[in-house]
Amino acid sequence: MVYRNYIGGKWVESKSGNTFESVNPANREIIGIVTKSDAADVDAAVEAAARAFPAWRKVPAPRRAEILFRAGQIMLAHKEELSQLVTREMGKVIKEGRGDVQEGIDMTIYMAGEGRRLFGHTTPAELPDKFAMSVRDPIGVVAAITPWNFPFAIPTWKIMPALVAGNTVVFKPASDTPVLAVKLVEIMEEAGLPAGVLNLVLGPGGTVGDALIAHPGVSLVSFTGSTDAGRGVAVKGAQLMKRVSLEMGGKNAIIVMDDADLDLAVDGIIWSAFGTSGQRCTAASRLIVHQSVRQELTDMLVARIGALRLGDGLQESTDVGPVINALQMQKIHGYTEIGIEEGARLLIGGEAYREGDCAKGFFYEPTLFDGVRPEMRIAQEEIFGPTTALIAVESLDEAIEVNNNTRYGLSSSIYTRDANKAFRAMRDISTGIVYVNAGTIGAEVHLPFGGTRGTGNGHREAGQAALDIFTEWKSLYVDFSGRLQKAQIDLDS
Ligand code: NAP
Repeated sequence: MVYRNYIGGKWVESKSGNTFESVNPANREIIGIVTKSDAADVDAAVEAAARAFPAWRKVPAPRRAEILFRAGQIMLAHKEELSQLVTREMGKVIKEGRGDVQEGIDMTIYMAGEGRRLFGHTTPAELPDKFAMSVRDPIGVVAAITPWNFPFAIPTWKIMPALVAGNTVVFKPASDTPVLAVKLVEIMEEAGLPAGVLNLVLGPGGTVGDALIAHPGVSLVSFTGSTDAGRGVAVKGAQLMKRVSLEMGGKNAIIVMDDADLDLAVDGIIWSAFGTSGQRCTAASRLIVHQSVRQELTDMLVARIGALRLGDGLQESTDVGPVINALQMQKIHGYTEIGIEEGARLLIGGEAYREGDCAKGFFYEPTLFDGVRPEMRIAQEEIFGPTTALIAVESLDEAIEVNNNTRYGLSSSIYTRDANKAFRAMRDISTGIVYVNAGTIGAEVHLPFGGTRGTGNGHREAGQAALDIFTEWKSLYVDFSGRLQKAQIDLDS
């Protein structure tokens, strides 16, 4: 069976008939054969979405939301099988696979709630017998381009707010996780979404993604992925005067102050640096540690890292699953070599892991560098693997300065028992998300999510903030005076 595109309410193979494989990174088992699309399929999908838009935007938002509520219920009923598929197709351990699916459910239900909110404003008009208000309008056809690291959750972050607001969508998932995308769209179909409202085009970013961005029928591109690819999306989108929302890379840090609860900090570091094998945009790939606790902390970390169990994420006992593919393995190992060349001290890890059954997959040892300087490449560039770099500092001010000084600005965390230090950090850290006495990961769907600098372009996903991406404000003035009234001019009326 070939996993197919979904266009205009029908499951169809790509026009070229080409295919590609989705592979389990733990053992290279083939998860599915997938239709491989190109620009011709994008044309068909955008046409279908454009045709569906006029009717969908007029469906009352609470009715649109009912479909999302149903989708949430279906997801919940299938949570375990979806979670296992997350683990098989993407590699994260099953507990995190369940978290990925739960996040998708949470976002779906949360955005369904927006069907009865989507609040605008009413405000007094400056002239008599005049009524003023603003409402949210949908934008049109949305291209949703998503990465593989949260193959179930991240698509819902885009598709659900887009749909509840009255847009139609063409969804282009990552080529590493297409089968989950098919499952998500099947759920939306089962929930009763009309034909053309959500379309799926499977295939490579360079062709399908590119064609979507260039297509004149697409009004908004919502992209999550690497900063390099995102920059290209921004440039192309700007030339075509499209709205472009970008969620990109991170180089997140955990600050550990001299007064921190070190046991708590170690728990947060292990979870944030090595959860999802470090393949989270919010992963802690830097540790900014007060010099006076550095030795004690590194000893504790090395002991904990050495005890982490690598393996197939379907086994409940596994702590760290594989990384996504061979290319990513090479990239991660390349950074180990760069770190050593730069003069950082490799404390543990730093090699591919090929013991037992792991030999069949893409496993990399959890890796810790000490003696890292803030300007080193391993402290500046996103590695997107189970590698973290410890930088020693002497004060809170220095820690915050080091924290803020990268091209990325997604997530930060500080461990301290001193409320004054915590509040100074919350005020002065310039990332989009800050945690106190918790690691850098763990966002909840009802708060804005996104980053500053090279992580984003000023938008925020999730929470109410997401609606600002997927809607256009429209201001409405109703003059019931029966005469010409001139704002800013009729000052005496
Ligand atoms: P990626 O290579 O940039 O790909 C992301 C998506 O863009 C995929 O669907 C990809 O398709 C597509 N794409 C690639 N090149 C494209 C192009 N030229 N035009 C249009 N689309 C294109 O990123 P990834 O490796 O999947 O994901 C990892 C990155 O995502 C990391 O940098 C991570 O920090 C970031 N991320 C950010 C957030 C956030 O919210 N800030 C969340 C999660 C992940 P193919 O798969 O077919 O190449």
